[in-house]
Amino acid sequence: MPFAATVLTLYPDMFPGPLGVSLAGRALGEGLWSLETVHIRDFAADKHRTVDDTPAGGGAGMVLRADVLAAAVDHARGRSPEAPVLAMSPRGRPLTQARVRQLAGGRGITILCGRFEGFDERIFDGRDVEPVSIGDYILSGGELGAMVLLDACIRLLPGVMGAASSGIEESFESGLLEYPHYTRPVDWEGRTIPEVLRSGDHAKIAAWRKHQAEADTRLRRPDLWERHEGARVGSPSGARRRQQDQEP
Ligand code: SAH
Repeated sequence: MPFAATVLTLYPDMFPGPLGVSLAGRALGEGLWSLETVHIRDFAADKHRTVDDTPAGGGAGMVLRADVLAAAVDHARGRSPEAPVLAMSPRGRPLTQARVRQLAGGRGITILCGRFEGFDERIFDGRDVEPVSIGDYILSGGELGAMVLLDACIRLLPGVMGAASSGIEESFESGLLEYPHYTRPVDWEGRTIPEVLRSGDHAKIAAWRKHQAEADTRLRRPDLWERHEGARVGSPSGARRRQQDQEP
């Protein structure tokens, strides 16, 4: 069974969009994953097909109704009972490569896309829905976030990426940014490819790449570096143990 993606949205025409080209598009064509959109408006109960209402307590914008969202989620869950339901929300837990890998290892995902001011909060109590953020900035809707999440999952599905190993060394997979890449020409505007990469000495290249990955992470992403170092050193007792191990 292919990885089944279901997207609940007010703008089904946005899909597959960018997921219809290149790696993800080819994989879709080859049946390595499937995509179904569900129009949230189809689950409105009144004749005007209303999906939103004004915020309780006042304020700008409109809020998506919990009853309409629940009907759409129930429909999707009926069709893909095993797929976790994720709701795109800046209030959710930030998406990580580890979570992406976990999701890609499953049978599929259902993604609820918000619009306007977002969801009536009760949807998260009334249904098993996990809020997920793609970063600390505000999009106008969840659809692009859903595409980001799907793209990240799809490239990990078996058979999608050419070289099976090319996913392993990427940024974040090791808790670090990836080392920098270079390709021909060797000399571009007087800037040359680092000598070591042309040496053919694989051990030296690996050591250089490790050093670069660490240095760049420390400089550009101190948050990642701190977490990486914390995990490496571990608890104070773990650090002590390791120190003892290194002593003669
Ligand atoms: N008022 C909300 C933002 C609503 S933006 C707030 O301040 O929290 C409208 C919709 O865009 C959201 O419901 C969500 O589905 C989507 N969205 C916006 N930013 C997002 C982000 N960083 N990650 C995931 N989804 C996002």
